Amino acid sequence: MPRPLIFDLFHTLVPGSDAERDRVVGEMALMVGVEPSALVAAYHATWRDRMTGWDVAETVRILAGRLGGTPTEDQVARAAAHRRELAVRLLDRVPETTLAALDALRAQGHPIGLISNATAETAEAWPVTRLARRIDVAVFSCDVRLAKPDPAIYRLTAGRLGVDPTDCVFVGDGADGELAGAAAVGMRVFRTAEHNDSDPAWTGRPLATLGELAALLR
Ligand SMILES: [Mg+2]
Repeated sequence: MPRPLIFDLFHTLVPGSDAERDRVVGEMALMVGVEPSALVAAYHATWRDRMTGWDVAETVRILAGRLGGTPTEDQVARAAAHRRELAVRLLDRVPETTLAALDALRAQGHPIGLISNATAETAEAWPVTRLARRIDVAVFSCDVRLAKPDPAIYRLTAGRLGVDPTDCVFVGDGADGELAGAAAVGMRVFRTAEHNDSDPAWTGRPLATLGELAALLR
């Protein structure tokens, strides 16, 4: 059987859009009556809680409260909706070349998985995306309360694909130490620099596009 492939999501299958994320959080701050740069900083400082615990509205409520805000539930709901719209937009930004690369890999018979350190709104937006129908098993940190590089999230995903981690190939930009995490459970690792040069110390030439993968695996 062709080896199962497990992809990271942001900066691997879709652009990370970091500046737009900060802009949207700043707009959310105005909706809930707190200082925009303070809410942006609070979002960055609490990424682990957001990746593995809090839902969208809970995040807004907790962080606005910490900054001295007292938003109404209606204001929290509006800000949460703004964040959900961002997630839909970011997932829709998958390049056509990436969709074509995934289709080619599927045609070669590779089962395809995804492991994403992602917050709740991304997991909520996922099922109706063009990516979702090309991925056999998608695991989001917010759903399983584990985040890369914890070995458990790689093992769990391999298990859902019905294979051993050592059978899998992991492809990611390298944020959060995800490449070392994948290698530690025995996965073969490819780094991509298509969207961001996140882990330049990783040995070997990175993929310039995901289109290069099919030939490398053949
Ligand atoms: Mg990434």
